[in-house]
Amino acid sequence: MPSAIEVELHGRTYRAPRRPTVVICADGCDPDYIRHAIANGVTPTLARFMDDGFAAVADAAMPTFTNPNNMSIVTGAPPAVHGISGNYYLDRDTGREVMVTDASLLRSPTIPGLLSRAGVATAVVTAKDKLRRALGHGLEGICFSSERADDATVAENGIADLAGLVGRPAPDPYSADLSLYVMDAGIRLLETGRARLLYLSLSDYVQHKHAPGEPEADRFYAALDARLARLAALGAVVALTADHGMSDKAAPDGTPNVLYLEDAVNERFGADAVRVICPITDPFVRHHGALGAFVRAYLRRPDTLGAVLRFVAGLPGVEAVMDRAEACARFELPADREGDFVAVAGKDWVIGARRAEHDLSALAGKRLRSHGGLGEQPVPFILSHPLSPAHRERAAERLRNRDIFDFALNGVV
Ligand SMILES: [Zn+2]
Repeated sequence: MPSAIEVELHGRTYRAPRRPTVVICADGCDPDYIRHAIANGVTPTLARFMDDGFAAVADAAMPTFTNPNNMSIVTGAPPAVHGISGNYYLDRDTGREVMVTDASLLRSPTIPGLLSRAGVATAVVTAKDKLRRALGHGLEGICFSSERADDATVAENGIADLAGLVGRPAPDPYSADLSLYVMDAGIRLLETGRARLLYLSLSDYVQHKHAPGEPEADRFYAALDARLARLAALGAVVALTADHGMSDKAAPDGTPNVLYLEDAVNERFGADAVRVICPITDPFVRHHGALGAFVRAYLRRPDTLGAVLRFVAGLPGVEAVMDRAEACARFELPADREGDFVAVAGKDWVIGARRAEHDLSALAGKRLRSHGGLGEQPVPFILSHPLSPAHRERAAERLRNRDIFDFALNGVV
């Protein structure tokens, strides 16, 4: 592989990998999961990376949801630049609610896409298929999801017969194996020399269900750790971060701490005064009932903004509420895709729209765990190899999960 290849994106230069390089987005991996797993002795490889390589806690992009952060990681840029600020948004022109299911809203090339076009053998593997379509933007290489692995074709995904390669059929989308399959596929792609640069994006199925240190969580991290050990044994530089953390959102008795914001505002200001959009919404609602810690709101009458902001600031569970200009400035969000105001829930709360819209029966008595707010911004930032002096210096500044490709490709010795 010629090492002179490099690409530039948003003011940064990314070198082609000198060694096989694997960047992992461990979905919903709050740093506490790793702290507990290491304390319980189930992740020796992560412990070794932290001792011999580099480990820090970085910040995810706001809102702390899956799509905005995966796109920030692969572009090295905030949502204001790449354009993806939720899984779900309201199209102001049509008044329709739109699911982000492909790359049509994406405003930036990606680092893996550019390197693949420069001749680097590149693979992007995701757990959920909706993310695969966005992450595969501009990629000339292998790109598939474990959810749809059995349907992969050379024309669409750059590879077929994944059951033959990985040794098992596509996993149940509601299982820990949805993530482990991504890891196993990555290992096989390295072993067979099909890829030299890999981006592996997992699912947060386990993290929505289980708190750090619970046996099910530790079991998952032990299984993940065994795969990290294999990647390292294959000579890869391994870099791990997350799209967001995960917090318990229930009262001591198990009742979810939910503010139904659209109900509350409309009760006070009149029917249809506000429309609230929950950008966590995705087809995997069984994880969280579409309840997260960040919502966008659209007012019927713009002149009510000041009064509504004051009212919302006093509602239970609200950590921050701000108009569009302030939200975009503070969180680096694209203004043309932002609501009239945004509300952010505190660490142990979520905000929904209308009570009737959220089905919490799927929780089946389990405590609600979710994300989206400032409380879920801290994420791990771990590399298998030590940093160069320049990147050691960089690491002393505020690290973001979107710095991970720079560190993995440019920053290790
Ligand atoms: Zn996620």
